Amino acid sequence: MHLVQPRHHISLQDYENVATLSVTVRDLRQEVSNLIPTLGNRRVWMVNSTARGGGVAEMMPPLITLMRDLGVEANWLVMDVADPAFFRLTKRIHNMIHGEGATHVDDADRQLYDQISQHTADALEQYVSPGDVLVIHDPQPMGAGAIVRRRMDVAAIWRCHIGLDQETPHTRAAWEFLGRYTDDYDHAIFSAPEYIPGPLTGKSTVIYPTIDPLSHKNRELPIHKLVGVLVNGSLIQPFGPVPTEQFPEPARRLQSDGTWALACQPEDIGLLFRPIITQVSRWDRLKGFLPLMEGFVTLKQDLTNGTVLESRYHKTLRLARLVLAGPDPDSIQDDPEGQEVLKEICQAYLNLPPAFQKDIAIISLPMGSAKHNALLVNALQRCSDIVVQNSLREGFGLTVTEAMWKRVAVMGSHAVGIRQQIRPGLDGCLVKDPEDPKEIASILGELLRDHHKREELGNNAQRRVYNDFLIFTQVRRLFEVITEVVEARWS
Ligand code: UDP
Repeated sequence: MHLVQPRHHISLQDYENVATLSVTVRDLRQEVSNLIPTLGNRRVWMVNSTARGGGVAEMMPPLITLMRDLGVEANWLVMDVADPAFFRLTKRIHNMIHGEGATHVDDADRQLYDQISQHTADALEQYVSPGDVLVIHDPQPMGAGAIVRRRMDVAAIWRCHIGLDQETPHTRAAWEFLGRYTDDYDHAIFSAPEYIPGPLTGKSTVIYPTIDPLSHKNRELPIHKLVGVLVNGSLIQPFGPVPTEQFPEPARRLQSDGTWALACQPEDIGLLFRPIITQVSRWDRLKGFLPLMEGFVTLKQDLTNGTVLESRYHKTLRLARLVLAGPDPDSIQDDPEGQEVLKEICQAYLNLPPAFQKDIAIISLPMGSAKHNALLVNALQRCSDIVVQNSLREGFGLTVTEAMWKRVAVMGSHAVGIRQQIRPGLDGCLVKDPEDPKEIASILGELLRDHHKREELGNNAQRRVYNDFLIFTQVRRLFEVITEVVEARWS
């Protein structure tokens, strides 16, 4: 177990200094100041299994920084486990909670999990004092948190970032396994009501994942900055010199001979001029890239199959392009499934007639620098008329939140995470069947045809994110849960 100092250079005051955020930050300060007397000088310990990589590790620094700025001593502890078998086991449990892989856990697994949990609990006890609050993230440190809760006068909350909206033999086995520890917790937090398993219904709260509005992925990009990022990342051809340096690694585009070249080759995609439909995701089958590509082709076929189109829409549709972007394949060497999926997408693209190939850009985004990657995602989303997240399944879908925050019209699927965010017709659109190219084509067509509608959806979407999915909401909800737990435990 070791302490991690979060490196996050944005303070609560910095957020408050941004005109559009100041009201929400002031509200947060006010609400939390009412809760602080209950918390007294108890310390909050966030515990997870890694300091780098993955959404939880990314979310921790801003969360801890904001909690500290609001007057609570929050700290971040990361498990140290030398035995890789433990992480193989917890990965299996993770998959089982998603309804995949194994359907049982045996005695040897239980023994391994219990043993590591004991060691981790011993280490955790070196940091924690009676009266403190543990916030344990995901299954890896769950056992350790429960053991410390049994041994010491602390409160313990379990934050689960994963889930499935059905009960299957896999999920049953996973919850049965974890059930030996869940009972010890004072409270649990899930990312959607559908994810709360039966035994935890009585003591769980939903807190939605959120985005940081000043992160490189979500911050405002003034026009020169936006164009600079696109040029520096080779997503557009420069019209003239720009003051900033080229990124060391460019965005690349799949060419019709199957090779990868600069993203602005063989010709400019048209991000600044054309109607652009974009999906940015990991290369995962469940993200629905292939049916989206088919849907786009189906839509374009309206231009040639005699369907009568009014002239403005005809031109919009003719110029429209689809951008499918994901991580550089070299960066996912350890993800053979991702490589496989990308291969399928590339093959499907190469099988298309050249006229369709011209209108679809398969983009590989550089992953060497998290900042450059985030800026490129930010710029791509901002250049889009429509952002799609056509997932067959989705835990939450931060790409949806990111696009909504940027006032882009979003077309999502009905996957659990996405339908928490988009209220269809109000702040986006939902396809019922993400594997039905006709339905995808029909909704994309409606959105492309009606720029007033897109604008209305985009404006509402931003307000929705402002109210419910910015980091301030997460911090406030976490404070509320912690306070309730403290009151129930010690008053
Ligand atoms: N993402 C990225 N670069 C990529 C592909 C994805 O930064 O090349 C980001 C995306 O912007 C989002 C996150 O990865 O912030 C994906 O989160 P989401 O909840 O949408 O799906 P997950 O990957 O967790 O299933």
